[in-house]
Amino acid sequence: MTNAPTDAAARRAIAPVICYPNETLPKPPLDLYRAARETAIKTDEVLVPARDARCFTAPAGHFVRISSVEGPQVGDLNLHSLSDVTERFYSGKTRALHGTHITTGERMWSSFPHMRPMATITEDTLSWYGIDEFGGSVHDVIGTRCDPYTGNLLADTQYHHCCHSNLTRSLADHLGVSLHEAETLVHDVLNVFMCTGFTRDTGQYFMKASPVRPGDYLEFFAEIDLLGNLSACPGGDCSSEHSSDTAACHPLLVEIFAPEDGTLDAWCSPAANQYDGSHGR
Ligand SMILES: [Zn+2]
Repeated sequence: MTNAPTDAAARRAIAPVICYPNETLPKPPLDLYRAARETAIKTDEVLVPARDARCFTAPAGHFVRISSVEGPQVGDLNLHSLSDVTERFYSGKTRALHGTHITTGERMWSSFPHMRPMATITEDTLSWYGIDEFGGSVHDVIGTRCDPYTGNLLADTQYHHCCHSNLTRSLADHLGVSLHEAETLVHDVLNVFMCTGFTRDTGQYFMKASPVRPGDYLEFFAEIDLLGNLSACPGGDCSSEHSSDTAACHPLLVEIFAPEDGTLDAWCSPAANQYDGSHGR
């Protein structure tokens, strides 16, 4: 530990500045989305088995609902552009723009050089939760995903049903590619329903039992044609441990809803980012 300078208190007392004031981001037309959702028709559903993952597709303008069924369960969500799977969800930039956890009206942004909204959250039955006394909240973009490499480092295990492996198998099966090729496309997730934060004393990532109950759901609007990949985490409600078969786990339900013709005429799918890409050369 180094010695504090004489003006340490004054340096610490400086008020923070928001890194990315987000008032100038394009505002999602939530009223338009909600009006379209009222007459939308369910077209597909996928049941994601416990400790496993499944892919689903949603054309631009469709709605995707992820629901808790049977028991409290968190999910690790990957999103790709359906036409170019290398364009994928960018949890780090989403965190920088919206904060550590996302809810209704906030967006899931895609990777460079595209960096555009992939999805906009339109309904969140856990929005009441807010931020608890531990600094915990739900639907985080801080936790990457549980994976067998970290488990191996920390506990010398060979566990094959971490979300990272579940997402890898699921994507390989969906695309018809090797596990290796699929693994390079798996990326940091939206932790759906997971309740997490950072401890104030050590700054460590923590999880606690999710407040999700059967019937709760997170719903989002597909801004572009999407390939989704959702893992029902082996952590179950994440009240105790993950990266093992110890926790009680439950499936998650994904439902797709198509808008009625004409209800989205005032909307268009966002174009890729308009930065010219020259990087000063
Ligand atoms: Zn997991």
